Amino acid sequence: MTAARSLSTVDDLVAAGLVREDRRAQAAAVAERYAVAVTPPLVALIDADDPDDPIARQFVPDAAELVTLPEERADPIGDLAHSPVEGIVHRYPDRVLLKAVHVCPVYCRFCFRREMVGPEGLGTLTPAELDAAIAYIAGRPEVWEVILTGGDPLVLSPRRLRDMMERLAAIDHVKIVRFHTRVPVVDPARIDAALIDALKASGKTTYVALHANHPREFTEDARAAVARIVDAGMMMISQTVLLKGVNDDADVLTALMRSFVENRIKPYYLHHPDLAPGTSHFRLSLAEGRALVERLRGRVSGLCQPAYILDIPGGHGKVRADSMAVEEAGDGCFRLRDFRGETHFYPPEEN
Ligand code: SF4
Repeated sequence: MTAARSLSTVDDLVAAGLVREDRRAQAAAVAERYAVAVTPPLVALIDADDPDDPIARQFVPDAAELVTLPEERADPIGDLAHSPVEGIVHRYPDRVLLKAVHVCPVYCRFCFRREMVGPEGLGTLTPAELDAAIAYIAGRPEVWEVILTGGDPLVLSPRRLRDMMERLAAIDHVKIVRFHTRVPVVDPARIDAALIDALKASGKTTYVALHANHPREFTEDARAAVARIVDAGMMMISQTVLLKGVNDDADVLTALMRSFVENRIKPYYLHHPDLAPGTSHFRLSLAEGRALVERLRGRVSGLCQPAYILDIPGGHGKVRADSMAVEEAGDGCFRLRDFRGETHFYPPEEN
């Protein structure tokens, strides 16, 4: 077996037949602006002859990314407004995000943190920054859950993950540690015994939230990686971004949600795409998303129903996009009520 490497330059993508020679210059302009990486299992999954391949669409740079609309923003869900110390986002009372690393094994073309992740991104927390982040959590008894996200925390070595888990395990009031990751589908070989062991800590419950957007991502190797995590006693939940040209189809979404359930992963979040820069070609309207989700209700087992979620631009938190907290306000505009009871409009009125 050859040890293939990830494709991270436009030359790599052209050589692999994923970018046509006549699109090289446009792809290079995109790669100048946003990080690129496609892992070997994904390269194998892409049908390079299909111009609409849903896997390629998620990972291969597209000239449409060079177009930034006025309503798009560098920090679409408002992480920075809720970041008391480097690496922590404390938006809701009982949980915090701990962003220890801003590197990913792949760079999704629709990423909501695309201005923060990548080799040129915010990097990995320094030891002093990690100490301060852990001290922040330790000093907040209301924090019941710590969500490791990033970047993709499972790019860290088992040694570093174990160290972080041991430090979190020493904090009594933290009961749940949740990892958000794409690794089981994009680099399944990384899910080995050492990494799995590092995710567990005595007295704490570990959840692993798998980000996958198309049923084809459930390759045999990916399914085996998921099975190793679940067999080790960890709970798995899903997250999916609703993306035009990838999964904005009731049959594809049904197949994806069934793949999660068949692999012992409870569907959790279906995210409406965020207002990240250069991602308008992926975005459906909220009305289209609600109609699509409505088609799954009743038709597909309740086990396969995720919560359809919109992150309210500006850092106001999540709202169930198909709930009574979201009302049509005319002209394609919606009135949203956040978890504090405050009203916002979507699309937002100003940048
Ligand atoms: S894995 Fe997550 S953080 Fe990384 S590029 Fe994809 S969406 Fe962004």
